[in-house]
Amino acid sequence: MNGGVIVKKQALLISLSLFCAIIIFTGAASATDDQNTLSSDTSDSTSSSQLEDTQSIYKSSNLEETKSQGVYNSQLVTYEKVKYSYTAKVSYKVRNKKVYYKSYYKKWYKSGGRWRYTWRYVWKYKWTYITKYRYEARTAYRYVEKTSDKPTNNRTVTVEISNIDTSTGADVTKNNVLMKHVSRTSVVNKLIQASRKGTPMIRFGDGTGTKVMMVSGVHGSEIPPQIAMLNLVNSLMDRNIKGTIYIVPFAIPSSTARNTRYWNGKNPNSISNIAGTPTNKILNVAKLNQVKYLGDFHSTKVGGYPGKNAVFCSKYPVYNSYLMAKYISSQTSSKLLTYASAAMEYPGAVEDASNVLRIPAVTCEVLSNHGTVRSGSVNKSYSQMLAFLRYCKIF
Ligand SMILES: [Zn+2]
Repeated sequence: MNGGVIVKKQALLISLSLFCAIIIFTGAASATDDQNTLSSDTSDSTSSSQLEDTQSIYKSSNLEETKSQGVYNSQLVTYEKVKYSYTAKVSYKVRNKKVYYKSYYKKWYKSGGRWRYTWRYVWKYKWTYITKYRYEARTAYRYVEKTSDKPTNNRTVTVEISNIDTSTGADVTKNNVLMKHVSRTSVVNKLIQASRKGTPMIRFGDGTGTKVMMVSGVHGSEIPPQIAMLNLVNSLMDRNIKGTIYIVPFAIPSSTARNTRYWNGKNPNSISNIAGTPTNKILNVAKLNQVKYLGDFHSTKVGGYPGKNAVFCSKYPVYNSYLMAKYISSQTSSKLLTYASAAMEYPGAVEDASNVLRIPAVTCEVLSNHGTVRSGSVNKSYSQMLAFLRYCKIF
C-alpha cells in the first residue's frame, strides 16, 4: 500500500510540474487586463502626437518654401486641398502577463563545502511589445501654380521659335478640343503659326546654364499635356529662369491637328530609335544642344496602361532618371513606375531612347481619355512639368 501511495504522490508531482510548465510556456491565463488597456491608452496619445507632427512638417515644407524662395509670383500661386494617406507604425510596451517562472541562483552547501546552482519558482511580470499598423488618411494643403488667363508681359523675354521637323506641319487649330482650352496669347499664336511648317520648338534662356527639354504631343490625341505645355509657355514669358528650356509643345502637329495617336499608321513613341522619324529628330536636337534632362509628357486613357497619373523611368543606364522620377512622383502624387533598364520593354520610346543617349529622361502621364480633357488633368500635367523644372533647378 505504501508503495502505491508513493506512486500516486509521484504522479501528482509530475502532473503539478507539468501544469507549472504549461503556465510558464503559455503565460498564465490570469492576465491583468486593466493594466493592459491602461498602458495601451497612454501609448495611443503619444502616437497621435507623432502623427500631428508629421502633418505640420508636411504643411510647413510646402507653404514656407513658396514664401521664402520668393521665386513664385504670388498671383499665380494658389493652394489646393489634397488628401493623402500613409501607414502609421505604432508600437508600445505592455505589462500584460504575470508568470511563474524558474529562477536559478547560487547557494552555499555546507555539507559539500561548495557553491552549487539551485532553483526556485518566483512570480514575475512579463513585458511584451505590441506593434500595430494603422492606415491614416489626412487632408493637407499644397501649392499649385496656375497660369493666369491674361499673362502680364511686362518683361521683355527673348524667345526663339525654330522648326525641328518640316515634314510634320499642320494647322493644329483644327483640333477643336485643344483650341477650346488654349489661351491664345501672342506667343501661343506664334507657335501655332510655326507648327504649320513643322514641329515647332521654343527656347527660353540664352542657351547657357542647365539645358532641359520638354516634349508633349508625341501622341497627338493626348490633349491635357499639350494644353499644360502652352500654359507653361505663357507663364515662362513672365518669369525669371536659370538655365535654358527647350519646349516642343506639338511633337507632331499633323497628329495633333487630326486628334490622332498615330503618325503614318505607327505609334510615334515606339520608333524614336529609328532615324528620320519625328521623335528621333527631336532627340537629335536634344543631343545637339547638350540637353541635360528630358521630360516627355503624355496622358493615359482609363483602363489603359498605366491608366493613372504616373511617372515612368528606368534605373539603367542613367540613374538620374530614377531620382528625377522619384522627385516628380512625390511632388505630384503620381505613381512611380520604375524599370530596371531602359530600352528593354519599350526600345523606341522617347524616354528610353533618351536614356540610351545618356540623357536622363522621364515619361509623365496624367489620366484623361484620348482626344478629351478630363477635369483636373491639365493642372496635374502642369504640376508634373513644374516638378520636372524644379528638379532640374531651373527655378
Ligand atoms: Zn502617350
